[in-house]
Amino acid sequence: MTNILSKCIQDDIMPQTNDTIFCTKCGQKNLKKDIQCSKCSSKLHSHQQAAYIVKTDTTLGGLIPNNTNALVAYYTGIFSIIPFVGILLGIAALIFGILGVKFANKNPEAKGKIHAWVGIILGGFFAFIYLAIVIASIFMIFLEQ
Ligand SMILES: [Zn+2]
Repeated sequence: MTNILSKCIQDDIMPQTNDTIFCTKCGQKNLKKDIQCSKCSSKLHSHQQAAYIVKTDTTLGGLIPNNTNALVAYYTGIFSIIPFVGILLGIAALIFGILGVKFANKNPEAKGKIHAWVGIILGGFFAFIYLAIVIASIFMIFLEQ
């Protein structure tokens, strides 16, 4: 029953016997194993061919994205040790560090999560320290007046 049914469906799409296939364009009789029509060279197995299309493998073929944010965070974090300039650098390290961690979470193959965290911790730490010193100094100046 299923055999007859599937044969009917097959015949409906393109009339063929077990070993031969008729070209849908020119009607030329071809062997089923042939990919192209021997007469007009149009593709014979459009349905089966579609099944062979292999999805492009992004894990191997794709380039590993660079986590530049993490690197920027890392270096700005280290240089935030410089007094007072470190406030700006530290804040920058914080921002780039957060971006870097987010990027690393989205792209697990991208490295730099540790660099991003170093940036966040160092940048945050020095920015906080120098900012505290600046605020304390301003208060001292106002109090002495
Ligand atoms: Zn043909």
